[in-house]
Amino acid sequence: MRKKELALEVIARLKKEYPDADCTLEYDQAWKLLVSVRLAAQCTDARVNVVVEKLFAQYPDVASLAAAPAEDIERIVHPCGLGHSKARDISACMKILHEQYQDKVPDDFDALLKLPGVGRKSANLIMGDVFGRPAIVTDTHCIRLCNRIGLVDNIKEPQKVEMALWKIIPPEEGSDFCHRLVWHGRAVCTARTTPSCEKCCLRDLCRQNGVK
Ligand code: SF4
Repeated sequence: MRKKELALEVIARLKKEYPDADCTLEYDQAWKLLVSVRLAAQCTDARVNVVVEKLFAQYPDVASLAAAPAEDIERIVHPCGLGHSKARDISACMKILHEQYQDKVPDDFDALLKLPGVGRKSANLIMGDVFGRPAIVTDTHCIRLCNRIGLVDNIKEPQKVEMALWKIIPPEEGSDFCHRLVWHGRAVCTARTTPSCEKCCLRDLCRQNGVK
């Protein structure tokens, strides 16, 4: 099966399997997602969701977080790991939102990429989830599953996976598709244990399962 056809079939199967899959970081405002996604590096979304409750209770808007000393932010976010650099990125990022964007998150991919601590994965997540734009979020689940399934060929570098997926995934499907890969990667096609191919909705399509 050609990769584009394979991609469409995988999208359809995962839609059926996880109809309501969405971002597992909880947020009600764009700037909060920006903060959470920085904290989520090398940390679970579940832990981030707990830690930000305290952070946002103390600093309920961009202006107050921008004015907070980085050390105070670090004290709250340290359970997420890498507290020193995450706190400084969050502080610098909120200052820029406050001073240059009237406390708003810019709806422009390149502008997002210029914010401290925001890489392509985070910028894509914001574009897709907040602004409903085409997005491909190449996190660890996306990279692992796309290689196993055969949507990409032994590509591990996130930006290269992203570029390969842009060629085969309909743009409007990208954001939800990547969320569903996360759900499937946690529930079935896991990283640390042997994937549960016997109960996988993709087993008759998947390269890892012997399909050419
Ligand atoms: S068949 Fe196995 S390797 Fe392939 S996607 Fe499903 S669980 Fe993962």
